Amino acid sequence: MMHASTRQAVVALCLRLSERGYFAGTGGNLMLRIDDVLVAVTPSATDYLTMAPEDVCLLRLADLGVVDGERPPSVETGLHARVMRARPDVGCTIHTHQPLASACALIGEPLEVPRSQHAVLGRTVPVVGYAPSGTGWLAGKLAAAVRPDRQAWLLRNHGIVCCGRDSTAALEAVEQLEQLARGHLAARIERQMQQQPGSRAQLAALRQLLLSSKELS
Ligand SMILES: [Zn+2]
Repeated sequence: MMHASTRQAVVALCLRLSERGYFAGTGGNLMLRIDDVLVAVTPSATDYLTMAPEDVCLLRLADLGVVDGERPPSVETGLHARVMRARPDVGCTIHTHQPLASACALIGEPLEVPRSQHAVLGRTVPVVGYAPSGTGWLAGKLAAAVRPDRQAWLLRNHGIVCCGRDSTAALEAVEQLEQLARGHLAARIERQMQQQPGSRAQLAALRQLLLSSKELS
């Protein structure tokens, strides 16, 4: 099998993302850079708990031609490729529907990043305008929002994309983005508590639920 260790790394990263609740079922996909020519990407519609290294697709980054792999590549391959082509420094891209950051993608407000998280997430997590999943239209919208210092994007009404120099850095961005989203949502609830004193008890319970969900992820 070509590039067995990279394909095994894709499987391991998918399991890690599933265990931590960032990939649910077959939702979510990722790309790892192998060298100047090749990338490895998750297969389309595959259960990550049963995925094998030979299911992982090897593609040429330039034209997304399949070099090896038993299954068709993820429908979001183009989304990952647009980041990889624009950012030679990026070795891993991850797309998830992770719960709290995806809630922020529904709200549609960019997230300002505290200085302590700039290295991992960039200064701002922008919102990429809505386009249907798996389309060149969505990939083009993301491509237009790629900058040298950005590592995370909210996809309006859909989910998120994070990237990093390697899989460890990209996974760290996924995790820190979820923490940032938790804080952003808690702050929104606190503002509503100020504005709606009559609903204060219910909002306080919701805020508590949100903050305690940290234990689960
Ligand atoms: Zn998606």
